[in-house]
Amino acid sequence: MKSEEFRQLGHQMVDWIADYWARMESYPVRAKVAPGEVLSKLPPHAPEQGLGGVEGWDAVFKDLESVVMPGVTHWQSPSFFAYFPANASGPSVLGELLSAGLGVQGMLWSTGPSCTELETRVLDWLAELIGLPESFRSMSPAGGGVIQGTASEATLVAMVAARSRVRRQRPGDAPLVAYSSTQAHSSVLKAAMLSGVARGASDTAHVRLLETDGGYALRPELLERAITEDLAAGRQPFFVCATLGTTSSGAMDPLGPTSEVMKRTGLTDMGGWLHVDAAWAGSALICPENQGLAAGIENVDSIAFDPHKWMLTNFDCDAFYTRDRAALVEALSVTPEYLRNAASASGSVIDYRDWQVELGRRFRALKLWFVVRHYGVNGLRAYIREHVRLAALFESWVREDTRFELAVPRSLSLVCFRLAPRPGEAPEATDARNRALLDKLNATGSAFLSHTVLPGVGGKPARFVLRMAIGAPSTQETHVRACWEALQKLTGE
Ligand code: PLP
Repeated sequence: MKSEEFRQLGHQMVDWIADYWARMESYPVRAKVAPGEVLSKLPPHAPEQGLGGVEGWDAVFKDLESVVMPGVTHWQSPSFFAYFPANASGPSVLGELLSAGLGVQGMLWSTGPSCTELETRVLDWLAELIGLPESFRSMSPAGGGVIQGTASEATLVAMVAARSRVRRQRPGDAPLVAYSSTQAHSSVLKAAMLSGVARGASDTAHVRLLETDGGYALRPELLERAITEDLAAGRQPFFVCATLGTTSSGAMDPLGPTSEVMKRTGLTDMGGWLHVDAAWAGSALICPENQGLAAGIENVDSIAFDPHKWMLTNFDCDAFYTRDRAALVEALSVTPEYLRNAASASGSVIDYRDWQVELGRRFRALKLWFVVRHYGVNGLRAYIREHVRLAALFESWVREDTRFELAVPRSLSLVCFRLAPRPGEAPEATDARNRALLDKLNATGSAFLSHTVLPGVGGKPARFVLRMAIGAPSTQETHVRACWEALQKLTGE
């Protein structure tokens, strides 16, 4: 493609995206296609002939409308309240475009000095913003931050660093054991499967998923008991994952008491690693009023959060920080001859390839840099605060309507709620009514919510609950209110 053609088509594509953002509300939020429908509109074989220039691209723009758009679920829609948000924004999309245009591979400092140093600086900014102590930043002797693709990758990287640190300090072949609550994200188990710590998804001997308290947070006394039992049985505890903002209900594990348990049981001295998965909630820590949620952070080994969830930076972008970067490098560095270079040998540069799974790396810091510069700290804080305000409003409406109940108190911008049980109603019947309500709402296309099942605690039955996760860039009070009114109307029917 000639550069003039690229310029023309690029303008057209940016126009297309801007128009899409403007007309997003005209689509049903959740795609209404059946499985295989998109596939059936695509030719089974690759085209022999290319498009042949700018005019040929008309066909592509037509296909966008007729093939692609019907199968798009509109994650940026102001009425998207499902899962957790996956933000995109103008500045981040421009950063993504620039990153692709530069086409830099930043695996080594020497293959991308700006890619490396911009990442270091922007991550230091973010570390300061979320209230991390200096020990997690690049100016510290041992710590620093890096962009991983996802929170799942961050957990895997933390786990393999933990494994190598503990094995160095406690050589031997005692079976390794990792710990989290039952509410930790499935990526903890997956990381254990990938790293060979667990033999499969049901290997609860090597990944102990501990029961939670009534608010679905980790219980430090159960962690202490499990670590003590495992040590007594000759196993080697090595990794604890605490979550700030669990996926199901937004629960916050207590970091201080968790690290105290690791100290008391001797796990800290053995090299044991405490990782904090703050994939969604971490963005809220940019607001000083939320930083109490991370009390005790100075004693954890690593923390990761996803600006690609709730900080206006499109996927993929996970900010990962550790106080022990040497453990990462020890676990992940392999240096073939063809990667050797003077800058790396000097020891004065960071080669981020040694902090991650892959070798190659995109220039992802650009989109983060654009986002932070465009909105500024004040703008980003206002963004988070508005979503929290809207969720508090929604929570108040749920409280006022006696047909509904909160499943747990609101966590930041996540409200878990459901239709309350009728007197004498069996738990399965309440669940069925809630499932039907969710299906009906989502079928309208006017909003999209997701669900979870919260386990029964203290002998109570498990509950099917609806999740209202507010966090799309263009969501306003009118959208939240419309969703609530739709829920009320469907309930009335
Ligand atoms: N951890 C938590 C607490 C999550 O809620 C999620 C996704 O929602 C993840 C990890 C996985 O995130 P990612 O897609 O960045 O791996």
